Amino acid sequence: MRTPAFKKFMTLDWESIQPLYTQLEDIELNKESLDSWMEQWSDLRKLVDERYARLSLATELDTADEEKEKRYFDFLEHVYPSTQAADQGLKKKLLGSELTPQGMELALKKMQVEADLFCEENLPLLTEESKLGTKYSKILGAQTIQWQEEELTLVQVKSALLTTDRRVRKELWELLSQRQLEDREAINELWKKFMAVRGKLASNAGFPDYRAFRWQQQLRLDYSPKESRQFIDAVKEVAVPAATRVYNRYQSRLRIDQVRPWDLLDNQTTFSLPAIQAFKTEEEFITRVGNILNRLDPVLGDYFKSMQDKDLLDLMNRKGKGPGGFCTEFATLGVPFIFMNAVGRGSDLRVLFHESGHAFHVFELTDLPYHHQRRSGLEFAEVASIAMELLAEPYLSEDQGGFLSTEDAARTRLLNLEEKLLFWPYMAVVVAFQHWVYENHSLASNPDACDGKWSELIDFYMPGINWDGFEDVKMTGWHRKLHIHQEPFYYIEYGLASLGAFQIWENAQKDQGKALQQYRQALALGGTVSLPKLYSAAGANLSFDMDTLGSAVQLIEKTLTELETQLA
Ligand SMILES: [Zn+2]
Repeated sequence: MRTPAFKKFMTLDWESIQPLYTQLEDIELNKESLDSWMEQWSDLRKLVDERYARLSLATELDTADEEKEKRYFDFLEHVYPSTQAADQGLKKKLLGSELTPQGMELALKKMQVEADLFCEENLPLLTEESKLGTKYSKILGAQTIQWQEEELTLVQVKSALLTTDRRVRKELWELLSQRQLEDREAINELWKKFMAVRGKLASNAGFPDYRAFRWQQQLRLDYSPKESRQFIDAVKEVAVPAATRVYNRYQSRLRIDQVRPWDLLDNQTTFSLPAIQAFKTEEEFITRVGNILNRLDPVLGDYFKSMQDKDLLDLMNRKGKGPGGFCTEFATLGVPFIFMNAVGRGSDLRVLFHESGHAFHVFELTDLPYHHQRRSGLEFAEVASIAMELLAEPYLSEDQGGFLSTEDAARTRLLNLEEKLLFWPYMAVVVAFQHWVYENHSLASNPDACDGKWSELIDFYMPGINWDGFEDVKMTGWHRKLHIHQEPFYYIEYGLASLGAFQIWENAQKDQGKALQQYRQALALGGTVSLPKLYSAAGANLSFDMDTLGSAVQLIEKTLTELETQLA
């Protein structure tokens, strides 16, 4: 039986798909059959992944279309779990054969970790954990506030907060905070359940604590909790003082006497008003960004152009479209698709550069023989995207061939660099908090103890913000960080990747051609080599130390000074 064409596969129910897996189960694996067996399995995985991607994307493009939603949910309920279980069987078969297909060394190692972690008693607990995650989303999703006779969602409040009127900002922020505090008990109750489930997951699988279990579950083979701690120590040493300097300059920019939480986005990031208008239509947006990418590197420019030609970009906000921006992939075709909600703002440019970086990753993977080899881990996937922001942004200004005035270009870059710098201390709070939680499992099952710890960490890593009079809001910040609840320990990835991207950017300032060549070569490796090797192929180091972070911070501060001079 041959692997069906994608169009056909889209219509198949599980009963018709199952024989494709059974056939692979039945083939005797030996040196002769290995390559073609791998190819067939790889093709099958591509079909499943593309079906998932297309069905999910269809619902995002039109959230009101119930038929599309039904097709997606049907697939999630009746087809996808069975494909995953069958896939697990094939992983076992391959591991059991003790054969290693070429270029699959690392993928096999990860399969082995997953197999070792597997334990029957944990299956209902994992389901329980994801149900708790859904409850958490529900609580947050229901939070709205009443504002000038209108009901605003969280997303709407955040955009309303972008006003120059500080009194309005404070009022909105207080309303929002009060609303969030109303759910304090509910989230605390949920937290106790999360902690109980996680404690059991770890002990069932034979681990001393949940962190040790989770580390394996996340397939973090290249660094340890100790290195994660080393990184946040480095943040305290070099990024925290620099972040405080940013907050101080921000204070003068806004002409305020101290930075309060309502002066920041998400209690963390600076913003600038009025918003920069960068384009009006999607066509304008695509052409302008395409020109910049082309100047940066003609090969990347061609990739982007082909996305435009093949209708793989849906960028503008419209009614009925799902939120946010992302890059997905159609695996059988080997092409990316970018989804966005652009409204013409300067910040949309950064998002498109970012997602284009992910898209280029997909293009560069074309030569890898097996679908299994493509995933590189977020610690590197985000290097591809963040580096693209940093490499492309210098071309925004009209004196660099771009289309923004020098001033608007400088402001766009300034805000992005500040955001990247301010992220590290906040990341350190989130990471340090979770180390503490799972090192003190029973103490941290008490939400009051978590409040105290979070508050202490905010003072330690983010001393530049004045929370006086709002201690309750401050200490419950961990309630509002969804990763802590839904994706434990998944956060440092962004901070590490950002540091990798800054190293590439620094290389580009010395030799742009070479930096881009290394960037593309590293992307092309997919997930075939370890993170340290991916980083070094890109001309960077996977680093946790103070020296590497220190030079990135220095480069950021130097550039911020230049940009501020341009804006003065
Ligand atoms: Zn990304």
